[in-house]
Amino acid sequence: MALPCEIGDYTDFYTSIHHATTIGKQFRPDNPLLPNYQWVPIGYHGRSSSIQVSTPGLGHEFARPYGQTKAPDAPQPSLAPSRRLDYELELGVFIGRPNAPGEPIAMSDAEDHVFGIALFNDWSARDIQAWEYQPLGPFLSKNFASTLSPWVVTLDALEPFREPFRRPDGDPQPLPYLDSAANRERGAIAIELEVWLQTARMREQGSAGYRLMRSNYRDAYWTVAQMVAHHTVNGCNLRAGDLFGSGTLSGPDPSEAGSLVELSAGGKRPITLANGETRTFLEDGDTVILRGYCERTGYRRIGLGECRGTVTTAARGR
Ligand code: CA
Repeated sequence: MALPCEIGDYTDFYTSIHHATTIGKQFRPDNPLLPNYQWVPIGYHGRSSSIQVSTPGLGHEFARPYGQTKAPDAPQPSLAPSRRLDYELELGVFIGRPNAPGEPIAMSDAEDHVFGIALFNDWSARDIQAWEYQPLGPFLSKNFASTLSPWVVTLDALEPFREPFRRPDGDPQPLPYLDSAANRERGAIAIELEVWLQTARMREQGSAGYRLMRSNYRDAYWTVAQMVAHHTVNGCNLRAGDLFGSGTLSGPDPSEAGSLVELSAGGKRPITLANGETRTFLEDGDTVILRGYCERTGYRRIGLGECRGTVTTAARGR
């Protein structure tokens, strides 16, 4: 198995308002959703060197990252393996056609620049993130590993699963450069998403794992076309093989959360698994499996395959 293509640049968006609100509450209880969220498809430039492909079995294996963390009551930070390692359920969007520097891609052309969609796990160390993220955003909490499924599903194949893009009543409508009739009519895509956890003990017991949650990509606040149009509106050029992460795809119900930091309420509410084990964050030997598929009566089911990765013990002595 190999990556579907050589990824030049990787940009991670933040297109689930449900994820943004829940995370925002944990980091800023008094101010969960920042005022730009409903206007700007928020994103940051990630790192492509550490993106690896999912494989059968344990999948993409990586060591628990070290990082600098600081407990709120500690006098100073220290360097240690992350204790709040998490996954993020995302979709990866591959760019297939470049644009020239200085030439923004309009909403009407945006999807012509997209090759297709894959499953994407943007592993995150929440304790490192909490200490480092202000003022410039995540850095070492995100760049140690990301996992991509080996299959890319083209937008053409997803055509039967397109749905209208709608904003909740009372929310602002997108600015004109992020709006089009086609986007309103069919900007969203109904993709069922699932996260499964297989612990080391489950593996010993012969269990394929436990489903932690389900959500649907139709609930994203910003569409694929809006990500492309926004990314290039300033003249930024995209290249074939560039990858966008959708951001963690949490649905409106708390049970549809796309990360452990949401499902465990920031580690305050342990999750009980089918075999009696509990988790707040990932433990060594845990395998996380993302799955995605589209189903609609009268159409052939489309699977996105799976995206599988396993965290191993942190390297010693840093
Ligand atoms: Ca992410």
